[in-house]
Amino acid sequence: MRLLKIPAGEIPAFRRRLLRWFAEHKRDLPWRRTRDPYRIWLSEIMLQQTRVAAVIPYFERFLEAFPDVRALARARTDRVLALWAGLGYYSRAKNLQRAAKEIVARHDGKFPRNYEEALALPGIGRYTAAAVLSIAYEGPHAVLDGNVARVLARIGALEGDLRAPGMWRKLESEAQNLLARNVSGDWNQAMMELGATVCTPKSPQCGECPVEKWCRARKLGIAEKLPAVRKKRATVDLTLAAAVLLDPQGRTLLVRQLDGEGALFSRMWQFPALETKGSDAGATLAAHLLKEFGVARNGNFAPLSTARHTVTFRNIRLEPYLVHVARLPRVKGARVIALSEIRGLPISNATQKIADSAIARQVG
Ligand code: SF4
Repeated sequence: MRLLKIPAGEIPAFRRRLLRWFAEHKRDLPWRRTRDPYRIWLSEIMLQQTRVAAVIPYFERFLEAFPDVRALARARTDRVLALWAGLGYYSRAKNLQRAAKEIVARHDGKFPRNYEEALALPGIGRYTAAAVLSIAYEGPHAVLDGNVARVLARIGALEGDLRAPGMWRKLESEAQNLLARNVSGDWNQAMMELGATVCTPKSPQCGECPVEKWCRARKLGIAEKLPAVRKKRATVDLTLAAAVLLDPQGRTLLVRQLDGEGALFSRMWQFPALETKGSDAGATLAAHLLKEFGVARNGNFAPLSTARHTVTFRNIRLEPYLVHVARLPRVKGARVIALSEIRGLPISNATQKIADSAIARQVG
């Protein structure tokens, strides 16, 4: 039993309408001017959790530095992360490079055409595999992302949480049933484009919709109420106390956390910092600096302006301190660099905010 209830005999007309609309209305985006799987894959990874307008300059800079999969595979990870800095969700960049190395080692530098092989690459889930294989190779795989799921839910007037166990699989099956297999790349992009530009979460433009005729939510007048709002994961509040150590030459010390649980900015350069729970973050940080770096608190501790930063479900209050030292401590694996030059390194937005605050203090 199909959820969408589009009569089988009308599916060809549904496809024709949507594809014609896409041909006329699609946005001109840099990754739509190519069938190169590397470029399509890169765009798909960058677009996860990030708006199109924000992605475009990153996409172009990244390709200038790493024009093909081999260039990405042999690049220094630091350089990859530096070009990703500001996009957030850095595990995407790390997985991208790991996958590039596997593609070079196991697939002769070509993105695999086989769905299971694509799925086996780091950072590639069902959605990304279907998107790259269909757009680059016309592979017969329908995509299902938030935009497509919303369109399907409205067409079928489906109530309930779309991400609930079982429901997502049913939607995948519905998407696969609708897929125009001979033009799967355009089809998938058309479905996503409809969700992104017409069948938007708030105020869908049903009057502009090429498939309005088949939409049950529109008929029932409930389009804006669907899909049901998901319960959000509760956010966790935490305070991160950070020390901008500064020597008389204006140099500072940066350290790096390794991957793994609890690493807020794994593999990114950051100021020495720790999570604090009590009210006196400064005292906790001072004790940490003395224990880990041998830096004593001698009236050299100046609080900088605090800032807010969000990483997935964590709501972080940044509490930075400027700590003047006669000499920076020697720390294995740490990096000494002029405070004014850290922007060129792979750092998180949080680290950049702290650096800006320290620089403003020096100038002011
Ligand atoms: Fe979405 Fe409206 Fe089109 Fe239905 S008619 S698919 S609600 S835009």
